[in-house]
Amino acid sequence: MKDKNKLTIGIDVKPPKKVCEDKKCPFHGSLKVHGKVFVGTVIKAKFPRSPLVEWSARRYIPKYERYEKTRTRVHVHNPLCINAVVGDKVKIAECRPLSKTKNFVIVELMGEDMEFQLKAEGIEESKSVQSIKDNTKEEKQDEKKESKPKEENVDASS
Ligand SMILES: [Zn+2]
Repeated sequence: MKDKNKLTIGIDVKPPKKVCEDKKCPFHGSLKVHGKVFVGTVIKAKFPRSPLVEWSARRYIPKYERYEKTRTRVHVHNPLCINAVVGDKVKIAECRPLSKTKNFVIVELMGEDMEFQLKAEGIEESKSVQSIKDNTKEEKQDEKKESKPKEENVDASS
């Protein structure tokens, strides 16, 4: 049964307060969500309905016994009722391909990302940023640059 006023989409999210007539809205349209769910930050919104969302994670590499910082960027659909802007922390869910590059949709607005805003304001004081990053403790990696001795080319021309 299709209920047009359905406000549950199968994931544990807060439904938006506004009502829209967007066909690609998981709450008020016909879009179904399935698959993975991520939390990221809107970093670019050149096209307001298709912003760019980025999130980072840590991946352990056994060979070097260190962590690698990974960064993922995807274009997502921005439903009219949610209307996220640059700097917002959003929850996104996988859905059917909505265009060539979009197969995620924003399902929840989680407020402003303070860390992103500090970066945007150009505050490069590492101490202030690190105090915010207390939740995600990062192990400092000792990167030793290997000095490669340059082999001198010896001309064998006689
Ligand atoms: Zn909607």
